[in-house]
Amino acid sequence: ARPVPSDIVIARAQRPKHIGKLAEEIGLLPSEVSMYGSRKAKISLGVIQRLKDQPVGKYVVVAGITPTPLGEGKTTTLMGLVQALGAHKQRNVVAALRQPSQGPTFGIKGGAAGGGYAQVIPMEEFNLHLTGDIHAVAAANNLVAAQLDTRIFHEATQSDTALYNRLVPRIKGQRKFSPIQLRRLKRLGIDKTDPDQLTPEEAAAFSRLNIDVDTIMWERVVDINDRYLREITIGQSPSEKGLCRKTRFSIAVASEIMAVLALSSSLADMKCRLGEMVVAFNKDGVPVTTDDLGVTGALAVLLKDALEPNLMQSLEGTPVLVHAGPFANIAHGCNSIIADEIGLKLVGSEGFVCTEAGFGSDIGMEKFCNIKCRNSGRKPDAMVLVTTVRAIKMHGGGAPVTPGAPLNKQYTEENLELLEKGLPNLLQHISNGCSFGMPVVVSINAHVADTPAEHELLRKAALQAGAFAAVVSTHWADGGAGAVPLAEAVIEACQQDNKFKLLYEPSLPLADKMTKIAQTMYGAGQVELSQEAKDQIKRLTDAGFGSLPICMSKTSGSVTGDPDIKGAPKGFTLKVQSVYVSAGAGFVVAMCGDITKMPGLSTRPAIYDIDLNTETGQIEGLF
Ligand code: ADP
Ligand code: MG
Repeated sequence: ARPVPSDIVIARAQRPKHIGKLAEEIGLLPSEVSMYGSRKAKISLGVIQRLKDQPVGKYVVVAGITPTPLGEGKTTTLMGLVQALGAHKQRNVVAALRQPSQGPTFGIKGGAAGGGYAQVIPMEEFNLHLTGDIHAVAAANNLVAAQLDTRIFHEATQSDTALYNRLVPRIKGQRKFSPIQLRRLKRLGIDKTDPDQLTPEEAAAFSRLNIDVDTIMWERVVDINDRYLREITIGQSPSEKGLCRKTRFSIAVASEIMAVLALSSSLADMKCRLGEMVVAFNKDGVPVTTDDLGVTGALAVLLKDALEPNLMQSLEGTPVLVHAGPFANIAHGCNSIIADEIGLKLVGSEGFVCTEAGFGSDIGMEKFCNIKCRNSGRKPDAMVLVTTVRAIKMHGGGAPVTPGAPLNKQYTEENLELLEKGLPNLLQHISNGCSFGMPVVVSINAHVADTPAEHELLRKAALQAGAFAAVVSTHWADGGAGAVPLAEAVIEACQQDNKFKLLYEPSLPLADKMTKIAQTMYGAGQVELSQEAKDQIKRLTDAGFGSLPICMSKTSGSVTGDPDIKGAPKGFTLKVQSVYVSAGAGFVVAMCGDITKMPGLSTRPAIYDIDLNTETGQIEGLF
């Protein structure tokens, strides 16, 4: 086989076309495009309104089997597929991708732009600041944190009257509530609009959020893998008068605001969600929201540009929308609803929007359907399930891999027996797609060491298990040309009647929703709730959050709750330890085990290799 150069060498060799030219090609008006240099642009939300009567294209979700350290290649396959559809089958096509966090870029080597001859370019800009959306999310998140702790401080150090007078000052002799304050009064059931009419009790109730500091859920964020911020104490300066508390930082993309950005359907919807986020509970157990803190409008201001999707391109010049990147465990792990919506309108009824769902289909695709599509109302037409021979072998009991060490012979030589043993994992994921009524197209992402007999074994097993089609795809080595069979299978799958259905009704009790997901998507026998989880479910149901969808926060390394268990065992017990609400995003998170929201750096992170060539201005050593 012809050797494939490194990802960065391939990406560099292709000169991207001017992004203005691409925007014109896909039917955007100049007034709808804001250039950020010549290789990326933001797209105005006005497009949705202009094309509101336009029939939408086919909607394809790319998902994977249970991830292994060997890498399955979902993004690479997605890029190969759109290159094949666009550049080889002459279809209108848009790829919609998450924006990666900058934390891992400086940590583990390996980008999120795809690989080989199937990539988004320029990969440096894709993997670094892009147009600053993640920075805007961090700024907004930390504004909430600052306002939250400062409010607690002011309430602790001021009398009711002083607090009220400062919150509703007399300006030129007149006092007025702001719109946000009027909303708070309404929530409190105080039917008055004149600040001077409130009784002292009402004024105190209005002024004091009475936050129970032990229930604070809001954390500060930064987009750096900084493990020393996993537990910190804030407020240690004497000026804070001893009001210290323990808290932590998370990585920026773990902010609920990132999930809000991804799920909003318009500016108005985003603003509404930004005000509904629950930051803590008060001493009576009532949720305290961002709107109670008065920050809703300010957050909307910080995030208005971030709500516009970013246009980039593939190696073969087809459009790619990069937008939002919520965590796939404590959040739903999908790019934005708005990017998909703009894509679906732009491609028209004969076109395709292909998007990625992170991790295995049990997590990413399940949330794509039950959270993202439930919100957007869109029905995916097909699921592409990415698998590799190597990963299935690992699920069959293949040796663990050590990063940097040569691969075990099991993975580099034909081994049909091991492959056969790993099939249950593939079958669980095929069944997952079928549970939503989607035709499943299995894409075997070919690696150089695979043999034809191994491919055939996977193909046959997939078809027998009810996959609509199963094809070998060589886009990594051959670009779009290598994914033509995949593209043809996807086109055919999308011609079927759309039988998409969600997994559960919103009215199902929270615990039953968890069981439904665990049994159908993971193959679990039952869900076991800790006492803490039971108490929280009751509290959230009483507070009115019982009809929200569930966001399972489970290890991605296994269909079970234990990352060390490969394959696809059946009938196990899934333990849910705790439960909380992301009310702005609009889901209830069920924590199944510890999930770190702040990655760390290894002894030798990618930081050592990253450099700027000051002669050429090029970034070096990224991947
Ligand atoms: P995912 O989206 O599933 O996390 P990616 O598409 O980002 O996976 O791929 C992970 C890594 O594997 C990338 O560095 C990519 O270049 C590499 N890769 C993907 N497919 C192949 C392949 N067929 N052969 C060799 N390397 C591949
Ligand atoms: Mg990916």
